[in-house]
Amino acid sequence: MIDKASAHDRGRIPQRIVKPEVSPPTRPNLGDYDAVRAAFSWERERERLAGLPGGGLNIAHEAVDRHLGSARAERTAIRWIGRSGARREFSYLALAAATSRFANALRSLGVQPGERVFVLMGRVPELYVAVLGALKAGCVVAPLFSAFGPEPIATRCEMGDARVLVTTPELYRRKVAGLRERLQGLRHVVLVGDDAADGPGVHRWSTLVDAASPTPSTAATTSETMALLHFTSGTTGRPKGAIHVHGAVLAHAVTGRYALDLHDADVFWCTADPGWVTGTSYGIIAPLVAGVTNVVVEAEFDAPTWYGVLQDEHVNVWYTAPTAIRMMMKIGADAARGHDLSALRFMASVGEPLNPEAVVWGIEAFGLPFHDNWWQTETGGIMVSNYAAMDIKPGSMGKPLPGITAGIVRRSAAGHVEQVTAPGVDGELALRTPWPSMMRGYLGEDERYRKCFADGWYLTGDLAHVDADGYFWFVGRADDVIKSAGHLIGPFEVESALLEHPAVAEAGVIGVPDPTVGEVVKAFVALKPGFEPSEALNRELLGHARKRLGAAVAPKAIAFRARLPTTRSGKIMRRLLKARELGLPEGDLSTLESDER
Ligand code: ATP
Ligand code: MG
Repeated sequence: MIDKASAHDRGRIPQRIVKPEVSPPTRPNLGDYDAVRAAFSWERERERLAGLPGGGLNIAHEAVDRHLGSARAERTAIRWIGRSGARREFSYLALAAATSRFANALRSLGVQPGERVFVLMGRVPELYVAVLGALKAGCVVAPLFSAFGPEPIATRCEMGDARVLVTTPELYRRKVAGLRERLQGLRHVVLVGDDAADGPGVHRWSTLVDAASPTPSTAATTSETMALLHFTSGTTGRPKGAIHVHGAVLAHAVTGRYALDLHDADVFWCTADPGWVTGTSYGIIAPLVAGVTNVVVEAEFDAPTWYGVLQDEHVNVWYTAPTAIRMMMKIGADAARGHDLSALRFMASVGEPLNPEAVVWGIEAFGLPFHDNWWQTETGGIMVSNYAAMDIKPGSMGKPLPGITAGIVRRSAAGHVEQVTAPGVDGELALRTPWPSMMRGYLGEDERYRKCFADGWYLTGDLAHVDADGYFWFVGRADDVIKSAGHLIGPFEVESALLEHPAVAEAGVIGVPDPTVGEVVKAFVALKPGFEPSEALNRELLGHARKRLGAAVAPKAIAFRARLPTTRSGKIMRRLLKARELGLPEGDLSTLESDER
């Protein structure tokens, strides 16, 4: 049973959160991990998809049109909540018509299957229609985050050979028009909004789409047809463009069922923006494939708004990220307690390590633990996860998805790897190839793509270990690991220990070169409201970390910051903390969101 009392007791993080043996009212889809894993076959799962009438596969068909023959047709597919409280709902039927119209509108412009459609918008309903409609037309969709500046937008459009750009008049004016010269391949711009005007190569959404037929005619795509182009978060360097195919929808379906435990008639909310892979795989595709109601919130993070959405929309399954959870923790659990969150059944988190403190805080604030899961832009879908019916070990990312074999490997000479089978030993997290949502290339970087694979493994670039019970533990990104006096130190462990201290809201840890020990650990810390930086607090935090971690691993220095630099997808940019500490070039900052200065 989940022990609320011990969760309140700061610093006493339980080793294991035991899931109830008695079936809860909604039985988890994955009841017995080992049994489901043993019986799992991708081929059988493929039979649960509809497929195209001619035998092909198309993500948008699985997400929308396949539901039309069932009771789901009238169900709300997308429930949109606008910034100013406006609401729009699309049933599956209405979404099918709208997306077919957009697909036909693209055809009317002469846009061919395989051509790239870039989408640059806030989370407005047209974004969802454009993504799904373009997939129906057989085009390749590249969703861009709307807060990008002109240069990152132009670079990505150039790299991806954008043929069509769907955006708003304001974003177009401010960010694209000035660089249009550079984008020779960009033939059509579709503008969403009342103030949009037609012009040469510029089309008003309403005129274009209203004139198009709602008759479905999904392109004859197959599981290997290119479908999506997603740029990585740029946490470790210049973002890469990962290529995904329509076959990925199989992984979205399976992870929606097992990792997110989506049930028929659920209300689901994924807080990620579709400009990042999570916001597309789980903010659009997986919930619609599962036939649930997908809540879309236009506004950015704001704790009162979020609690309001969870309560008022009766959200059953909520998928969010550690940065947001830490921001909610910053203002305290009382804010949650003032709301009726009884509809919530399952909460999951992705994108960064989820500190044990945050898992347990979920119980304090919501009566439910957060379920961490791990994946990357390159993997296309959730790969390692904590499941509804499986005990949680706070701090662990869980176990590999049924159908996925994960291992810990060490790179050896000449491009080979060796698997580390002993429990508790750190190495690189690797996945056995292939799986349906595995990336099929890095745009324009074949060599870099090839280097991600060796001896039948995909090498993730993250370090982890696996314990004797088969739970995976994240150590850090290979690039971020600190080598100090013969120890390999993962920043996550140090950051988690700091986050246990009541004053600490966020922590980022780096290695600073040192002539004696190689590197020394330095921590950057942002404080919770009500705490001020001081010498005394600095000493207290150093002492706390030493007590928790031992002298070899604890930071030798702590610097206070108002906030830490993060990517727009919410990841702490340790490389930037390090570059600034060492006075080195800052590198690609196209995805930098908040900054310390
Ligand atoms: P880039 O590859 O450009 O540096 P990125 O790796 O941050 O950017 P994403 O694909 O958005 O781009 O993020 C995937 C990475 O996020 C993972 O490789 C891992 O480092 C981190 N991550 C995701 N989920 C988790 C998790 N549950 N625990 C720990 N780390 C996670
Ligand atoms: Mg990466």
